[in-house]
Amino acid sequence: METTKIKWPEWPQYTESANNNLLEVFKSNRWALSGYWTGDQPMVQKFSKKFAEYCDVSYCVPTTSGSMALMLALEALDIGEGDEVIVPALTWIATATAVLNVNALPVLVDVEEETYCMNPEKIREAITDRTKAIIPVHLFGCMANMDMIMEIANEHGLYVIEDVAQSHGSKWNGKYAGTLGHIGAFSCQQGKVLTSGEGGIIITNDQYIYQKLEQLRADSRVMTETPLRHGDMQLVMKGDFQGSNHCISEFQAAILLAQLERLDFLNSIREKNADFLNRELSKIPGIVTMKKFSQIDRQTYYGYVFKFNHSEHMDAQRLAEILRQRLNMGTFYLYPPYLPIHKNPLFCPWTKNRYPKNIRMNEEYWREQNFPVAESAFANSIVLHHAILLAEPHQLNMIVDTVADVFGR
Ligand SMILES: *Cc1c(COP(=O)(O)O)cnc(C)c1O
Repeated sequence: METTKIKWPEWPQYTESANNNLLEVFKSNRWALSGYWTGDQPMVQKFSKKFAEYCDVSYCVPTTSGSMALMLALEALDIGEGDEVIVPALTWIATATAVLNVNALPVLVDVEEETYCMNPEKIREAITDRTKAIIPVHLFGCMANMDMIMEIANEHGLYVIEDVAQSHGSKWNGKYAGTLGHIGAFSCQQGKVLTSGEGGIIITNDQYIYQKLEQLRADSRVMTETPLRHGDMQLVMKGDFQGSNHCISEFQAAILLAQLERLDFLNSIREKNADFLNRELSKIPGIVTMKKFSQIDRQTYYGYVFKFNHSEHMDAQRLAEILRQRLNMGTFYLYPPYLPIHKNPLFCPWTKNRYPKNIRMNEEYWREQNFPVAESAFANSIVLHHAILLAEPHQLNMIVDTVADVFGR
């Protein structure tokens, strides 16, 4: 096979419309929310409105990253010292470090074999009288079982913050991901399906939470809606809640606004191609694809995951390298899933002095936890980045043929 010439789609992608928005900001004298009124609504405000409309939700607060979106969400719910928050063992480390960063303890639970998202039964077992919230993550190309998670949360009076960093545009039972719980926290980092290089978004239907989030993000200030003179500051003093500066710039919002126009179009191509891969890869002996709950109306793919029969001769690291070689892909495009939080070298809270001792714990406390499903994912699954799902049909066929070849169809 002549694979050295294959070129895979790039991500993120340039668009004329983002370019125009960017220039508009550059030429204006308003580069930040904390800048002065120049006669036009700032891009951050335009984007907030558009994204809230898109998600069919009342309120939207953009912020600097997905990590910060999670942390501000926790702060808005008054979660802090002495509290516990339940998070999945398999996710990007930010889901757990956000909890530590508000001085609360992340309590890890295992994920489901068929989705790699939080196992609701394990949530039940992890609840104590210190539990305040659950953070389900919609991981790679699956959604967590939100019906069961909300049922458990309501039973125990717990908040639910959805980590929707990988799931802009997924829909469950007619509702957008991020609006099923109390707060949704998105990331807009470079690899995500809606991106401005770095960035994050928080959404909620709760007015009190929104008002608090606004101040937490902008040094206890809020945006005024009243008509302004040229040169007036649009962020005005408030001070009900101690905030800090976590605002995105106008340049980031300019890009997000343009990217949002293409989100549904790209999501639908990715979903169609994921369905194709599910159909074709599951015909190969030893390959298992992931489950799509019947409640899902639309599935966003941040990553496309498949599992394989692993052995001492073939684990995910090895298979990933073989496939990258044969398909001429860099490590961005194809990789094993995350190491689970408790085994991930990037997760090392005992090294941070400012954490209270009862959340910092020690290395043994974290490393010796045990989550068999999350641990097996790293050995027996492969993730294809969503850029691959924008490839041509013959390229997708090549992926299927190459996997079939490795596993001896
Ligand atoms: C990317 C990501 C985050 C963190 O987002 P940043 O914008 O990189 O801070 C959190 N959770 C999950 C599941 C992610 O994929």
